[in-house]
Amino acid sequence: MSASMLRVHGTVASPGLAEGPLYFLDDEPASVRTFDALPPAEAFEAALGQAIAEIEHLGRATLDENARALLEFQVAMLEDESLLEPARAALREGLDAGAAWRRAIELQLAQFESAEDPYFRARSADLEDMRERVLRCLAGARAKRIPPGAIVVARDLVPSRFLETDWQGGGIALSGGSAKSHVAMLARSRGVPMLIGTPPWDPNGHREALLDTEAGTLIVSPATEVRAAFARRLAGLQSAKAAADSSLSGPAVTQGGQVIKVMINIADVGELARLDPAHCDGIGLVRTELLLKSRAELGDEEGQYAAYCSILRWARGAPVTIRTLDAGSDKPIPGYTVEESNPFLGTRGVRLSLANPELFAIQLRALCRAAHLGPLRVMVPMVTLPAELAAAKRLLDEVAAELLARGIAHRRPELGMMVEVPAAALTIDLFDAAFLSIGSNDLIQYVSAAGRDLAHLGSLQEPLQPAVLRLIETVVSAAGDRAIDVSLCGDMAAEPRCVAPLVALGLRSLSVAPVALARVKSAIRALP
Ligand code: PEP
Ligand code: MG
Repeated sequence: MSASMLRVHGTVASPGLAEGPLYFLDDEPASVRTFDALPPAEAFEAALGQAIAEIEHLGRATLDENARALLEFQVAMLEDESLLEPARAALREGLDAGAAWRRAIELQLAQFESAEDPYFRARSADLEDMRERVLRCLAGARAKRIPPGAIVVARDLVPSRFLETDWQGGGIALSGGSAKSHVAMLARSRGVPMLIGTPPWDPNGHREALLDTEAGTLIVSPATEVRAAFARRLAGLQSAKAAADSSLSGPAVTQGGQVIKVMINIADVGELARLDPAHCDGIGLVRTELLLKSRAELGDEEGQYAAYCSILRWARGAPVTIRTLDAGSDKPIPGYTVEESNPFLGTRGVRLSLANPELFAIQLRALCRAAHLGPLRVMVPMVTLPAELAAAKRLLDEVAAELLARGIAHRRPELGMMVEVPAAALTIDLFDAAFLSIGSNDLIQYVSAAGRDLAHLGSLQEPLQPAVLRLIETVVSAAGDRAIDVSLCGDMAAEPRCVAPLVALGLRSLSVAPVALARVKSAIRALP
């Protein structure tokens, strides 16, 4: 008898539809055997070496810079004495290699999991990944391959397992997980549907499932009619995507002949390898707080200069707007951001940059030098008061003057601002900005007093609510009065239903995630 249908609800971490055989990852046998022929301490070192070699191999095989960075993080951890010493001490006490390694990882996990900083909590998955890999190496076994196109069910999924898998229309349903984890980020960037936080359910007898993130549901052992309706939706989605993809080329022009610029938002230089500059009107937002992942990178002017130059070279003369660090809130950089009770209302963006003028000057210096290569504009995030923009401008002028004095090739880029704090939107005529870009993600959360990370307050975060539209109208009309450029780079611009209202408010420039480019261009072309 076939198992009866079950609907398991969860939180969407990556959108999409998937259909496939279920694969229960946590049922894989744990690896506990040590290398038979070696004494435990030698077996441990051999397994460690093999694990590092495997991860380095994965790193060389991926083109994705985010993925490579997290694999490099794992290698660094596997070479870190503070992680290894407790394992070696346990071996000296007489534990076998597997038990010693588990103990060391548990100690580190306890530290990561109790950390206030969400960055470290999200890194727990990396530690679990490393624990399993070394244990597998100790057992002389490689991980079983997740079958292509499967729907993976697990408590959590580690990044390297994600990268080793051929997803092919499959998806992920986790009882744990976090939307901010690396694996969720990878799933979104690869278009693999993912649900997190599913309640416990009995897997017995179930073999297949549908994953529907529009409904936030995993449908296990679907009934025939449910499966048929799902197949129709999947086919509709695929043909809509194919039609939209065919509209990637060419400018976005309404039926009435109004040209709307559509640019892209990026977080990483690696993303650009898969994108064609001819499909957009430039880059409207580079989130440098996601590009620069550690405090060391914030102090590395040459590294930043090289990254900004790569972005400008990719754009081939199209405008590029790079945002100065918007670290803080849900985008921590260890060693730089501060822990606060209410991070979204705390020291983030320009507040943090102005509190660290030496690091801010390094970023501005790298930007001035890169601006020599092409039409680069610099944008400051989270501006609340005119004095903050003025202070950033003074520092930019000082940095440009110093480069001039030292005879270093540079250009002082135009300095604009994000409009994402309601106080700035309401008084935008008081700011001396060269251009404006509306950050609807933050504008909505601040004007509706509903955190953008809180899915259950979704109804308060409606982008088309009158309060949001009035603020946008104020900003667009002030930009018109001053004849300065205004764009909108929040996620609202990527929603086809929002395109008509935004154009009606006078916006002629939008910046969206690369995956949304085709659908936004199609929505513009359908406008009267
Ligand atoms: C925004 O707030 O709309 C925005 C584009 O910035 P971020 O999402 O990076 O805060
Ligand atoms: Mg923002």
